[in-house]
Amino acid sequence: MALHHNVLVIGAGLSGLMAARMLQDAGRTVRLLDKGRSVGGRMATRRVGDGKADTGAQFFTVRDAEFDAYVKGWIAQGIVFEWSRGWSDGSLNPARDGHPRYAVRDGMNALAKHLSNGLDFAVNVELQSVRRTVTGWQLTDTEGEVYASDAVVLTAPVPQSLKLIDNGGVVLPKEARATLDSVQYEPCLVIIAEVNGATGLPAPGAMQRHNSNLYWIADNERKGISKTHLLTIQCSGPFSRALWDLHDEEVVRKVRIDLMPIMGTDAFEITAAQVKRWRYSRPVSDLPGDYLLVDVADAAGSTAPLLFVGDAWCGARVEGAFVSGLRGGRALAEKVGK
Ligand SMILES: Cc1cc2nc3c(=O)[nH]c(=O)nc-3n(C[C@H](O)[C@H](O)[C@H](O)COP(=O)(O)OP(=O)(O)OC[C@H]3O[C@@H](n4cnc5c(N)ncnc54)[C@H](O)[C@@H]3O)c2cc1C
Repeated sequence: MALHHNVLVIGAGLSGLMAARMLQDAGRTVRLLDKGRSVGGRMATRRVGDGKADTGAQFFTVRDAEFDAYVKGWIAQGIVFEWSRGWSDGSLNPARDGHPRYAVRDGMNALAKHLSNGLDFAVNVELQSVRRTVTGWQLTDTEGEVYASDAVVLTAPVPQSLKLIDNGGVVLPKEARATLDSVQYEPCLVIIAEVNGATGLPAPGAMQRHNSNLYWIADNERKGISKTHLLTIQCSGPFSRALWDLHDEEVVRKVRIDLMPIMGTDAFEITAAQVKRWRYSRPVSDLPGDYLLVDVADAAGSTAPLLFVGDAWCGARVEGAFVSGLRGGRALAEKVGK
């Protein structure tokens, strides 16, 4: 028989980690399950040879007072540092808007690892379906393993979460379903390129170029997370869509053509490259509220809570995911396992 928890959380990105922390702090039994090789989701850092590169989120900003208090704590602990107050767009007018951009000392994924300390989680577990039972919820993974709980938290990009409940035949209230069906995401192709020597990128080693094919270019060595010269290059949404189905070598060849004039040095050469495809990089608009918490009825009419959190609420960024998970987790703790 499956081990029963008060709450099972699908996805150990920032929103899932924060929801789990809130529930555990409130005394609930919680287990996180993630299909990735490590926790963090889009807070992703990849090792390439002797170097490291952030392949998902590159930095974060702070608007929310509660998030600000956490960030101050991470800075005091030496986990997070202020990287910049604006990015050059490649023109002669580098944009310094006075708004701090923070990064994580050992790469963005290290913050997720830090937040997973003390939580019960399993990685390399891909859920396939979420269904209602007489007592609550039953989850099944792709290996046929079964998990049971009183409540479930869904944190994956919304279309992926909806697929799980559709596979389990879960019917949501009409309005909730319509809200979730409205969420759309931008794809993002990311190229990690090892280069032969210093890059000519302006301080602090990154460029943000709105309305161009290469939206973001950062030197992870100058960011302070890599021993080797590794660039993270993000393609814009339209350019990502245009290159999506090409072989990796062809993607790198096309990106290199756009990159050469930006690097401003003839000696620049790509010595190795990897391509990461994020089908759901960021939602294109925000949903109302901080999360979506619904009571789902079974055939006999008894209900069990289902919580959706993530960056589709509170802003399509690191901070939004964090805050959504934190507030959603707290709200669920009021309903379950008391
Ligand atoms: C290329 C890129 C650049 C970005 N740059 C920035 C930036 O500079 N600043 C910023 O603030 N934000 C940035 N973002 C956005 C930021 O990374 C996200 O908003 C945030 O990390 C989302 O967290 P989350 O918890 O909502 O989702 P995720 O991190 O996606 O977590 C969801 C988790 O669910 C897991 N999962 C999915 N399906 C299943 C399943 N069936 N079974 C088990 N597990 C499953 C996934 O493995 C994942 O770990 C960027 C995103 C990308 C992709």
